[in-house]
Amino acid sequence: MAEPHSHTLPSYLDSSHPGPWGIYLQQVDRVAPYLGNLSRWIETLKRPKRILIVDVPIQLDNGTVAHFEGYRVQHNNSRGPGKGGVRYHQDVTLSEVMALSAWMSVKSAAVNLPFGGAKGGIRIDPRQHSMAEIERITRRYTSEIHDIIGPNKDIPAPDVNTNGQIMAWMMDTYSMNEGGTTTGVVTGKPVSLGGSLGRIEATGRGVYVVACEAARESGIDIKGARIAIQGFGNVGGTAARLFNEAGAHVVAVYDHTGIVYNSRGLNVPALVEHVKSTGGVAGAADTETLSVNDFWSLKTDILIPAALEGQITRDNADLIHTRILVEGANGPTTPEADDIISAKGTIIVPDVVANAGGVTVSYFEWVQDFSSFFWTEQEINHRLEAMMRAAYSGMSAVARQHGVSLRTAAFIVACSRILEARQVRGLYP
Ligand code: NAD
Repeated sequence: MAEPHSHTLPSYLDSSHPGPWGIYLQQVDRVAPYLGNLSRWIETLKRPKRILIVDVPIQLDNGTVAHFEGYRVQHNNSRGPGKGGVRYHQDVTLSEVMALSAWMSVKSAAVNLPFGGAKGGIRIDPRQHSMAEIERITRRYTSEIHDIIGPNKDIPAPDVNTNGQIMAWMMDTYSMNEGGTTTGVVTGKPVSLGGSLGRIEATGRGVYVVACEAARESGIDIKGARIAIQGFGNVGGTAARLFNEAGAHVVAVYDHTGIVYNSRGLNVPALVEHVKSTGGVAGAADTETLSVNDFWSLKTDILIPAALEGQITRDNADLIHTRILVEGANGPTTPEADDIISAKGTIIVPDVVANAGGVTVSYFEWVQDFSSFFWTEQEINHRLEAMMRAAYSGMSAVARQHGVSLRTAAFIVACSRILEARQVRGLYP
């Protein structure tokens, strides 16, 4: 007699799998009961469609040869080509890239972009290499994954330690191998090479838009609302500027140099200038400093972690007193902390929707590249805001319908869309 199916499952299908992939599998198990008949397809979400591990050898500047391990994981392409960044970091693992690729499938579907999910990475510490070495690594990696990427297959983008220049080298390498110019193979490119206006501010703008939606639902007036933000870079800095322009009081900002606080609201434009000239918020005029625990304990209307993952844990969740928590960063709240904070009645706007503004404008970049017709920044911001509002209201309606958190609702919306596409496509052959 055949073994029961579960005994034959490879270990990566087991939700006790350690690391981020195991966390993702637990999230899928949690939404399964809400998927109705579509749940017969659930294993689609638990198996990455394709995993490619490549050797990336290059000649170093000193003439020796070094080998690096590179990955590209395409989690799902039921709704469209894979989409997701490429990370250069010495700690990149296959489990991490698998989980990040799956969360990209969820994020793309949660905001209704016609993309699947993918992610790539190279195990390398970029600080140990010259720009010339980084260029050679980028070009060799792109050549190695060439067969599985393309504007209709899988579209990489920047992530940790990769940027517009690296995307330009990826686009050039792909184009040279194809014998043409294919701008739409990557997004996050410089504007001079088919990049989109508004891309840099897109994630922070999306955070601001969904925070306003959550505030409106909770009866909080953004004008005069008290806001604290961890991270004052691309995401946190842009969100702070937009809240300030809307008349909110950004009372505290926490970055890698310290914490600044002003109970009447920080002077955000002056803080931006201070960070430009000194590299961080510490020491800005008209501010007090706070301890880390005092920062997390602040009574606020909106708290925005927009720095690193794993910042809000069971160790500091008890301190938090905010009405709305908007996840600008990826994975800033651990599952235990999420339970503690939600139990206090705080609304948590999950990362898969809250920080999806970046991938949304990446989608606009891809569309513009296909038509070689470029939109104004005003058009881009207008369309971004409409898509973020629609994503928020769809998620919020499902949360009310099932009596679940916004995070579970975002997963229900996204997984239903992916599996619906899977079902109507059917299985080939
Ligand atoms: P960034 O590098 O521009 O800014 C990071 C900010 O975090 C800086 O202000 C830095 O001082 C602060 N920071 C770093 N270490 C810190 C520490 N130990 N304690 C407190 N603050 C610290 O990065 P970003 O692009 O703004 O990204 C922030 C987060 O948002 C990341 O989790 C990223 O993955 C996520 N995210 C970014 C985008 C995007 O389009 N940029 C899209 C989706 C998600």
